[in-house]
Amino acid sequence: MEEWFYSLKSVICIRPVPPAPRKILDLTLAMFRLLLKPPKRLGLTPKPVYNSATNQWRSITASAIRLSDAVPPVTSIEKLILEHVKAVGPMSYATYMQFCLSHPTEGYYMKSANNIFGAQGDFITSPDISQIFGEMIAVWLLSQWEAAGCPPSIRLVELGPGRGTLITDILRVITTISKKLSQPLAVQVHLVETSLFLREIQSRRLSVAPTSVQWHESIDHITPSDDSFTMLVAHEFFDALPVHVFRKTEEGWKEMMVSSRINKSEDANSEQYPRLQHVLSPETTAISNIFGNSSSRFQSLPVGSDLEVSPTSFRLARKVGELLAKRETPTSSSPGGCGLIIDYGRDHAFGSSRRGFKDHDVVDIFYRPGECDLTANVDFAYLKEAMQDLIPVYGPMSQNTFLSQMGFTIRLERLLQSNQGDQAKTDRIFEGAKRLIDPVHMGEEYSVMGISTNEGPIHPFSVYHPQ
Ligand code: SAH
Repeated sequence: MEEWFYSLKSVICIRPVPPAPRKILDLTLAMFRLLLKPPKRLGLTPKPVYNSATNQWRSITASAIRLSDAVPPVTSIEKLILEHVKAVGPMSYATYMQFCLSHPTEGYYMKSANNIFGAQGDFITSPDISQIFGEMIAVWLLSQWEAAGCPPSIRLVELGPGRGTLITDILRVITTISKKLSQPLAVQVHLVETSLFLREIQSRRLSVAPTSVQWHESIDHITPSDDSFTMLVAHEFFDALPVHVFRKTEEGWKEMMVSSRINKSEDANSEQYPRLQHVLSPETTAISNIFGNSSSRFQSLPVGSDLEVSPTSFRLARKVGELLAKRETPTSSSPGGCGLIIDYGRDHAFGSSRRGFKDHDVVDIFYRPGECDLTANVDFAYLKEAMQDLIPVYGPMSQNTFLSQMGFTIRLERLLQSNQGDQAKTDRIFEGAKRLIDPVHMGEEYSVMGISTNEGPIHPFSVYHPQ
């Protein structure tokens, strides 16, 4: 066996992993035999991540470096926020995040001038690091479709598709499988994307896809289907949704608000930087009481705890549950669906995971508002609470375990073999693959949660949490 195989195995096997069921491996192998020539991928650094073992950011010095640079000019969003704070007082961190990321013209994801993804951009995500990521997701979705009795019509939904790489990889696998069926699958694609300029990139990417594509402003605009099996994927979507920040005090939950650090006498171009700061609201409010107590897990936190809560994530997760759940009537039953949510985060809440990203580094949350990505870890338990009365939810489990259980090594082996002779390319493929399952960074810091109308046990979630 070659050296790379052992090196990869040592990364995957951080704990004993039982073998994947024969059915999944067969499906993986069948698919890989059929796959067309793989697209090229870049070998780049992913977003820096939080290491819970050492309690540190991989590049924690970044925010200090950034803040010691020359004071950056006021950004258009920063100006709006400073004016807003001056007029009506501090705003919630959720509103701040929404302003920065989703302001219709100036928001980070809305402005084509912001170089978001890739080598020249601010961060790179798993689908752009290795095509195997999307292929493994496709295999899981197809395994659920197969378990549901192979319904002839499929709806593929992605929340926040970015550059469209993941959906392209998933579609390639589904199309390949579909062509081998006696009756090709009817496939429709639904993309939920608020950014018009990202929609254009996605549209160009999907222009050759042999399927109809529809864009939606919100998941609310997609209705449950009576005849299609719905497959949903959300990768690095929930971490971009606004979070409120609360602190538990003797009097109850109080909200951490965003306020100005600039004195009334100074103008916005003064040397004071960052120009914004967190302040604790003096009173408990309806919002802090409702959301601070919206889970029994939060109620039991001790006084002094900080808590990041995303009511938007809760609402959207519930919508996901409604979209995928089976609908039974006395005379018919819809085929239901399945989904994967993959993101930074764990099965618990976080207090201070919010951070910014610029040029592949972590930056202060108040650094160049609207020109940096903002993110917060996902509380998967909250997403589960939002939908588990509607549909069975599985996991979350680490990305490392999920991918390795889905046949990651087999696929990598095939991909390397098919590119033998091109050393630079095989090196790139290998490095990308290793990065996705790296137990210190991406492999452990990203979690995968499954949703499926099929009753358990659902591979690979049943491996560590038998239903
Ligand atoms: N899934 C992609 C991109 C992640 S970046 C990848 O992994 O590469 C987040 C994506 O979500 C962007 O496409 C952004 O425009 C979109 N987005 C952020 N907030 C959104 C919202 N509220 N509704 C719909 N899309 C949103």
